[in-house]
Amino acid sequence: GNTVMKQNSEVTQITQRLVHEVMGIPVVLRETATVSDAVVTLFLENVGSLIVIDASGALAGIVSRKDLLKVTLGNAQASSVMLNMVMTRYPNIVTVSPDDTVREAIRKMISHQVDALPVVHPIDPSEGPPKVEVIGRITKTTITKLLFDATAGDL
Ligand code: ADP
Repeated sequence: GNTVMKQNSEVTQITQRLVHEVMGIPVVLRETATVSDAVVTLFLENVGSLIVIDASGALAGIVSRKDLLKVTLGNAQASSVMLNMVMTRYPNIVTVSPDDTVREAIRKMISHQVDALPVVHPIDPSEGPPKVEVIGRITKTTITKLLFDATAGDL
């Protein structure tokens, strides 16, 4: 009788959880790493995108499968190109904070048409523009697993 209502409340419970409760470990490379390093890491870590950090450890960008495919087209030297040449660059990165809700993370992935969001804390550089530190990642796979786990008691 109330199966549909029960399912709706379970979905609401999932989407009201906080990002830090469900986030995964960020897979990170330095911006001086190469396209070759990035492709190897995508396979080894079984992820679709990599978070790129600068020498201070702050978020520098994101590199996705498509960014890596694009640079290989008509470029025989692609494998030695550094990630800071192919990544989407901070501050043009969509991020979430650990205290945001899962719903807010989903909303950002849909509206910005990306598969993954870095979870970040502000860091206070003594000089220069504001920077953020990456403490986790949330992806469409994270959300799919949450939905699946919520059905564990169902048939
Ligand atoms: P894929 O390349 O596998 O389709 P995405 O849809 O996540 O993966 O990435 C599409 C484009 O958006 C890429 O150019 C990537 O650099 C960029 N991108 C990925 N994640 C983010 C993000 N959180 N914020 C801004 N840009 C992103």
